[in-house]
Amino acid sequence: MPEQGPLTVAVIGTGIVGLCAALEIQRAGHHVLLIEPGEPGGRQAASYGNATWINPGAIMPISLPGLWRKVPGFLFDRTGPFTVRWRDLPQLAGWLAQFVAAGRDWERIALCARQRYPLCRDTVSSHRTYAAEAGASHLIRQEGLIYVYPDRSAFTAESRIWSMRREFGIRFSEIEESELRRLQPALSPAYSFGARLDDAGQIADPGAYCAALARLLEARGAERFATRAIGFVIEGSRLNAVATDRGALACDCAVIAAGIGSDALARLAGDRVPLIAERGYHVIIPEPGVELGAGLMPSDGQMGVVSTPQGLRIAGQVELADPTAPPDWRRADILLGYARKMFPELVERFDAARVDRWMGNRPSTPDGLPCIGLASASSDIVHAFGHAHTGLTQAPATARLVAALIDGQEPPFDPAPYSARRFAR
Ligand SMILES: Cc1cc2nc3c(=O)[nH]c(=O)nc-3n(C[C@H](O)[C@H](O)[C@H](O)COP(=O)(O)OP(=O)(O)OC[C@H]3O[C@@H](n4cnc5c(N)ncnc54)[C@H](O)[C@@H]3O)c2cc1C
Repeated sequence: MPEQGPLTVAVIGTGIVGLCAALEIQRAGHHVLLIEPGEPGGRQAASYGNATWINPGAIMPISLPGLWRKVPGFLFDRTGPFTVRWRDLPQLAGWLAQFVAAGRDWERIALCARQRYPLCRDTVSSHRTYAAEAGASHLIRQEGLIYVYPDRSAFTAESRIWSMRREFGIRFSEIEESELRRLQPALSPAYSFGARLDDAGQIADPGAYCAALARLLEARGAERFATRAIGFVIEGSRLNAVATDRGALACDCAVIAAGIGSDALARLAGDRVPLIAERGYHVIIPEPGVELGAGLMPSDGQMGVVSTPQGLRIAGQVELADPTAPPDWRRADILLGYARKMFPELVERFDAARVDRWMGNRPSTPDGLPCIGLASASSDIVHAFGHAHTGLTQAPATARLVAALIDGQEPPFDPAPYSARRFAR
């Protein structure tokens, strides 16, 4: 990093990770350039369409022991929560093998949970602070998140995961059937047991939140460039500029926070990262006649079901596919099917023509950890991508780590597990 004075720092990408990083960098007294071809908070970003959860309990990776037994089913069952696009399988097979291997035993899961914990623990209070500064406090809700199960035995089958959360001090409450009915009167009797993560919350409209953070950054002096970053101008090991499709932007440092667009830039900064798109979908049913307090996660559908200002949002599905392939809207229809199952009276009420359908790319590494750290080609470039299913949750802690690395300060927690160089070993 350059040694003294306020720096000019280019942040590439204005999804939630880039925006939070930019806020922390600006807070440290530096000048921020935002490089983004789309609108901050726009539909192009994963940060727009996610399930809205900010969850201190999001310490578990997705790949868990026993997953390998399910992979053949994923290839053939077109209606489950996880699928692989056949045509893209040859290019995804290597990543898939690493993904399954990363979750092959519980010792690995415990280590991964330990490494994810500092990224998740302060998420709600951090977002509250950003939201207050951006005049968007009304978007933060903290009513907990309830995993709903057909019955207690389905919950007990996941007891290892819940006891791991307990070991980290993550508070949760078991909810018996009568209490579940009181809390969620519209929920189908097909679900009779719940486990609520008491300290989790929601950003009710993540697109509006991102747009508010971008306005805050600009009001505080950040400059926004509506263009795409295509490379770096590096002399020796010093960064001179970010190359964009509208010319070079001079800067002292750069942060790669371009979501699924990050791996190409990381390669130009000296690091090869196995990053793929775990594509996800959402549907929003306007005026659903169902208002949830806490968000819900049905154990059979593995998706987030939340009330938002636009209506009932059901967000989930994992589709391993080339990010440039056209969306497969049948995946969105599967989500609608779960909405009908969970809230039977919705069947009467909703108008399919008014349902908003969205597809976005989770930027995913195979080992359940993001890439955060200095790039190999220049320590003036910082990686901040690969947050997969939990980028909304993990963005504030990522941002604090990025800002500390830029300033050469003591990091708020050990950055070693997130280094891109782990994939070179
Ligand atoms: C269905 C679904 C549900 C989810 N639910 C949750 C949830 O409940 N909680 C949670 O914590 N996380 C959730 N996630 C994950 C979360 O949304 C992502 O991890 C997070 O949004 C990633 O943020 P990001 O800033 O890294 O990327 P993005 O939000 O994708 O932003 C990247 C930005 O970079 C820009 N960009 C790309 N290439 C370039 C370039 N070359 N130059 C300049 N700009 C570029 C893009 O235009 C984009 O705006 C969910 C994701 C999905 C898809």
